[in-house]
Amino acid sequence: MEQDAPKGKLIVFSAPSGTGKSTIAKAVLGQIGELSFSVSATTRSKRPGEEEGVHYFFLDKKEFEERIENGGFIEYEFFFGNYYGTLLDKTSEAIDSGRHLLFDLDVKGALNLKKLFPLDSLLLFIRPPSMAVLQERLIKRDGKNSAGLQDRLERAELELGYAEQFDEVVVNDDLDETVKVVTEKIRKYLSTH
Ligand code: ADP
Ligand code: 5GP
Repeated sequence: MEQDAPKGKLIVFSAPSGTGKSTIAKAVLGQIGELSFSVSATTRSKRPGEEEGVHYFFLDKKEFEERIENGGFIEYEFFFGNYYGTLLDKTSEAIDSGRHLLFDLDVKGALNLKKLFPLDSLLLFIRPPSMAVLQERLIKRDGKNSAGLQDRLERAELELGYAEQFDEVVVNDDLDETVKVVTEKIRKYLSTH
């Protein structure tokens, strides 16, 4: 009997905003060639250095809501005043062609993805060393007077409460060490599943 072609796996990073997920993701993607970044859609505005189709697909609210209506998202959430969602067509296309994807999702999005792909997903929760360090990183990235700072810190407390539902938890203290540990965990998962 002919065997089904191997499907791509889903590796999901979740962490309170500012913990270092994107920084870690970039380094890990540089080390694991067979892993591609899953580009989400969002209605938030671009940060300096962000590119359309690379970091996000930037949609306006109307476009995003039309896609929701048309069943275009595997999952989506609304927080910090904006929508964020995983595009169905891009994800199915990658997985069906056997490509492994790395997702950067909030905790609810991550747990929803696990429900949809229980056997093919690895959920990694990345913790900041402390709330004080998280605040420093947010200020370093967005500036001290960023409008979203307080919202992000409040949401961080809530997200930290979900850590134990993840497959693995890693503390992002020293960046090089975190990248090493996370890369090893992903390699091990991909070679055994
Ligand atoms: P996230 O994607 O989780 O929102 P970012 O990757 O944008 O977070 O990181 C937030 C800020 O913290 C950035 O300025 C980044 O350079 C910095 N950062 C990330 N990891 C570390 C680390 N281990 N030590 C010090 N600074 C870090
Ligand atoms: P940021 O605005 O810092 O890029 O992202 C804010 C939050 O949105 C982060 O926690 C990030 O993981 C989450 N996020 C990004 N894309 C998606 C998505 O497609 N779905 C969900 N549920 N969360 C997302």
